[in-house]
Amino acid sequence: MNNEFNTLQKFDAGKGREGFFHSLPELEKQGVGKISRLPISIRIVLESVLRNCDGKKVRRKDVETLANWNAKKPANEEIPFVVARIVLQDFTGVPLVVDLAAMRSAVKRLGGDPKIIEPLVSVDLVVDHSVQVDFFGSADALRLNLEMEFKRNRERYQFLKWGQQAFKTFQLIPPGIGIVHQVNLEYLAKGVLASQFEISNLKSQIYFPDTLVGTDSHTTMINGLGVVGWGVGGIEAEAGMLGQPVYFLTPEVVGVHLTGKLREGVTATDLVLHITQMLRAQKVVGKFVEFYGEGAASLPVPDRATIGNMSPEYGATIGYFPVDQESVNYLRATGRSDEQCAAFENYFRAQKMFGMPRRGEIDYSVDLQLDLGQVQPGVAGPKRPQDRINLPDLGHTFRSLLQQPIKDGGYGKENVDLSTRHLVQLNGSAPHDGDMPGIDPGEERNKAEMVTNRPTPDPAKDLQGADPFHHGESKIGHGSVLIAAITSCTNTSNPSVMLAAGLLAKKAVERGLRVDPAVKTSLAPGSRVVSDYLTKTGLQTYLDQLGFNLVGYGCTTCIGNSGPLHPKIEKAIHDHDLVAASVLSGNRNFEARVHQNIKANFLMSPPLVVAFALAGRVDLDLTKEPIGKDKDGKETFLRDLWPSLTEVRDAMQSALTPEVFRRLYRDFADQNPKWNEIPSSTGDIYQWDEKSDYIHEPPFFEDFSMKPGKIENIVGARALGIFGDSVTTDHISPAGAIKASSPAGQYLISRGIEPADFNSYGSRRGNDLVMTRGTFANVRIKNLMVPGTEGGVTRYLGKPRQGADATGEQMSIYDAAMKYQKDNMPLVILAGTEYGTGSSRDWAAKGTRLLGVKAVVASSFERIHRSNLVGMGVLPLQFAEGTNAQTLKLDGSESFSITGLSDAIEPGMTLTLRIERADGRSDSVPVSLRIDTPIEIDYYRHGGILQFVLRQLLAKK
Ligand code: SF4
Repeated sequence: MNNEFNTLQKFDAGKGREGFFHSLPELEKQGVGKISRLPISIRIVLESVLRNCDGKKVRRKDVETLANWNAKKPANEEIPFVVARIVLQDFTGVPLVVDLAAMRSAVKRLGGDPKIIEPLVSVDLVVDHSVQVDFFGSADALRLNLEMEFKRNRERYQFLKWGQQAFKTFQLIPPGIGIVHQVNLEYLAKGVLASQFEISNLKSQIYFPDTLVGTDSHTTMINGLGVVGWGVGGIEAEAGMLGQPVYFLTPEVVGVHLTGKLREGVTATDLVLHITQMLRAQKVVGKFVEFYGEGAASLPVPDRATIGNMSPEYGATIGYFPVDQESVNYLRATGRSDEQCAAFENYFRAQKMFGMPRRGEIDYSVDLQLDLGQVQPGVAGPKRPQDRINLPDLGHTFRSLLQQPIKDGGYGKENVDLSTRHLVQLNGSAPHDGDMPGIDPGEERNKAEMVTNRPTPDPAKDLQGADPFHHGESKIGHGSVLIAAITSCTNTSNPSVMLAAGLLAKKAVERGLRVDPAVKTSLAPGSRVVSDYLTKTGLQTYLDQLGFNLVGYGCTTCIGNSGPLHPKIEKAIHDHDLVAASVLSGNRNFEARVHQNIKANFLMSPPLVVAFALAGRVDLDLTKEPIGKDKDGKETFLRDLWPSLTEVRDAMQSALTPEVFRRLYRDFADQNPKWNEIPSSTGDIYQWDEKSDYIHEPPFFEDFSMKPGKIENIVGARALGIFGDSVTTDHISPAGAIKASSPAGQYLISRGIEPADFNSYGSRRGNDLVMTRGTFANVRIKNLMVPGTEGGVTRYLGKPRQGADATGEQMSIYDAAMKYQKDNMPLVILAGTEYGTGSSRDWAAKGTRLLGVKAVVASSFERIHRSNLVGMGVLPLQFAEGTNAQTLKLDGSESFSITGLSDAIEPGMTLTLRIERADGRSDSVPVSLRIDTPIEIDYYRHGGILQFVLRQLLAKK
């Protein structure tokens, strides 16, 4: 056990147990820093840095720098954060399990014990991103959607099942159980963790805060429980999984002092939309946000979690609430053991971090104030989550946006009669026209979780006889609500808003109100606990009567898996160019996220989703205009249906017990027969199946040996691409559609796969053969080596030789890279500023490496992509200020050498880029080595983080 600063102390862990911990108050006593003034979130990271300080991976200097965090001017240093656990969702999790499986195969080839490959911290993968709303509004919807999901994802699920039995520290939560962040909040999170260690030859327990990273941006939801964690890309998660630190720059911390209380009729969703708008305006991107004060103390954990969830929408790295009595109460109420609750409380008390801080107790970089009493009911949209609209203003705002020019963010419908409605007859189970709803490979969807898996959009054909649509007659026009979805972990984790939706439905049904058949209604909670309390309170039956039948436990509409609309509705939208609306309790609403044909998307609380489904339109003021007519023809208003706080509280008390959580989170697998039916291979080694086009053994460990190679100069490299500024990770590794004419498309066709069944790059992340072909294949990328073109093309010039053609043959980047590999020639990429910007995406670095690129020379790098390149053994180099490919007049006909590379390299040192031009002239320019830390030198020397860890593990045995 590291104890560099002599901070290891005993504490009373409760229930008669004694434990050890690294005491931050002791660190302060030793004069290392004024720790008691630090934001709580910074102290939690500091504890990890202190506990893991081993002089190499984490250095004394890292502890001292963070302990002296300067609120007004944080040091521009990277923090090595070793997290306690990892959470994954299925889309981003599959490639990580593929890498682990490949490591095991490599160990076996070397004659070792494959079981040495285990995640070193606990990993939980929740399968939640694949369920789609094909069926809705019927008692069968849940079963039918689940059947469709299993049919579409069988190959991936088989593989995950193998992983589940092969790794001890890897827990898999099968489909149909819940959404990753809600399951994390209700079940996986422990608040404080303990591990065994030996002291004076005696076994004891060391306690430390629960911390994590997840491969999904809304991992921040757990911040509501006082757990520090956020979303990262695959390579950082992989590093964390293998016990390596996740690096991030010392952040500013914005304190938000909450005062007052929410008023009657105002929900947690209203609050989070208010906060999102407020913090977006304050520019908190890349910062920690910490909520505190008596207003924060008054919020129950589900409300805090709703606020933490939307951190990516307000731009913060985390949206954190310190641990207090409410946090302990929540753990107890959700069925965590008395021992766990006692350890949680006692640990935070021992660290002097228990209780909601008050104003003036902590130094924040910026201090903001919010009176909860000022928050108003509202919605956000129609295109961005930060565009909040007070409820009374929605109708007016929608009408004016409809007429505003497109260039000003409107819909450009200047001369149309907004009251026109078009009749649609929704009869029978119309054959589906094969439209692919929702997916759009564009920039805005540059987000790991956005990749959906929908090979077969025709449920009516797939499940013979089942009818996916509502029937009846309807009239639709601009502003018609066509999707109403109670969805997303943002809200379905919060019983107050879910019960409010049920209570509103009850009052509506009792008055005889109905939902128009054109509205696609769905209820997709993030855990089965929600169904339990909605059933127990008798409210589910009212939701059912309005069409909000259960459709699945997963992300559904929130991730864009809203499924098809009735073809006649889609036709009417198309024929009349309608600006139709969706209302959903999700957290993102940019165009095409929810459904490709729905242009106006409004985020709102679950009760408002039910209200707008009943109203059938968004172009009205629900606070003044009637929502509909009751069975006696009398106008009914929202205020007639809205449940009081007391009604909601009473329902909560009667329905929520710790035993429900314990029962529903016990033995998931046994509770999911479909999962059990999936055959899975067993054993420690995965039997790679050459017939699979979803799962393939990546070549990262081909020719792997125990000795890393020497660091040597790169000589005689060709440029594979020369790019301008702001090349995103989506340019480098697109997530969306696979073009039939692209190398990946051609490869799939050669495997007998029809373009209709290509699926997206995202869903094929477990197959390097597709992903490598897809690298730099974004249809929008511009390679300056081939001026005037768009897409993944380059010029192949072969080996430099006298009198050779300096123009080269034009071909795809993949084909050229393969030819260069045959020629045994190294490759470089040259780029402008902010190279690798956008969401972290593991395949952007993996694909670069597998194409044979040895170095990327750019004017500047996006932080995470730079570290991902090093993690994959690709050298990031930075041009000196004022120099770039354009100032050097490079066109790709040159050959390049990088000198100064040896085993003695040091972070940040200057190297030389030597340029041999086709006409025989040459230049040399300095470039700085963007390997930023000593541990990264080790990663690079070993050819990447996976190889580094594998050698370490093999050496231990
Ligand atoms: S429900 Fe939405 S926010 Fe939650 S994990 Fe799924 S896609 Fe992300």
